[in-house]
Amino acid sequence: MSHKRLLFLHTGGTLGMTSRGDPGPLAPSAYAEDVLPFVRGLEELVHIEGEVLCNLDSSDLLPRHWEGLAGLIAARLDDYDGFVVLHGTDTMAYTASALSYLLDGLPKPVVLTGAQRPIAELRTDARNNLIHASISATMDVPEVTVWFNDELLRGNRCTKVSVQSYAAFASPNLPPLVRMGADVMPQHTPRRPTGPFRLRAGFCEDVAVLWLFPGASPRLLDLMVESGARGVVLVAFGAGNVPLRGWPEAIGRATARGVQVVVNTQCVDGAVELGRYEGSAAAEANGAMSAGPMTIEASLTKLMFLLGQGLSPEALRARFAEDLAGELLP
Ligand code: ASP
Repeated sequence: MSHKRLLFLHTGGTLGMTSRGDPGPLAPSAYAEDVLPFVRGLEELVHIEGEVLCNLDSSDLLPRHWEGLAGLIAARLDDYDGFVVLHGTDTMAYTASALSYLLDGLPKPVVLTGAQRPIAELRTDARNNLIHASISATMDVPEVTVWFNDELLRGNRCTKVSVQSYAAFASPNLPPLVRMGADVMPQHTPRRPTGPFRLRAGFCEDVAVLWLFPGASPRLLDLMVESGARGVVLVAFGAGNVPLRGWPEAIGRATARGVQVVVNTQCVDGAVELGRYEGSAAAEANGAMSAGPMTIEASLTKLMFLLGQGLSPEALRARFAEDLAGELLP
């Protein structure tokens, strides 16, 4: 049986970094293109080719990099059985969410992975992650996913939860798709494309995220609107609750000016339910949209994506409430 063909797409991150001095900061290394020698034995299982898209700390990645990645995957879709994206952990959940919207009807696995320690270090987690991400990319999971530690997570459902732990990612509102220990253990049915593959494009960058806190002035939202935001994700309390004093009115002023306001939650686990409390009912009555079970990363990139599609405000609101890529539905 011939080996499955995988394309490794390198974007940067700790996995390929080297420490400039000890204990100096980790920076993208010149040898990042040479991660393949560290997983040489893998070629007994799969045929690997690699390409370096960029070599950046993921905090420097931009929406145009998301589009570049998606474009490359789309262009090579017929040439490979799966794709492994090597990516810094810090913004991996944003890229994974963005890719899930861009790669509409994706028929093959796209697995993002990274590491907490560089691949050249003895105690690295990079080898484990790369090997298992590669195995995941040969499986029948036609989704944008994130492999980390011992789990394959839906990309637009995961979030980075630990600075330290090798189990750096969690998917609080959806079980992992696959778990691998001594055995490969499927945990949740993957999505299947329901239509033909289409590469999408376009992100609006005039967006903001506003984290609520006791005493936060509604003026903060006004300031975002005045400075040109076209969409704001309000990271509210609990089930999406906002303070009654001033906030529903500020949301009303924003939406009256055509600014889309999404209410998400500071809780990691569980879904926003507007209307459960008076404050969130008033927010909804003033035009706020609910993030439901979406992560902050998935809701923000969805807002950026939909604002970039040139939709009318009504059409955008309708699309936002729909499941585009498994960010809402199981
Ligand atoms: N700062 C790094 C990055 O996101 C962290 C990592 O790769 O884990 O690129």
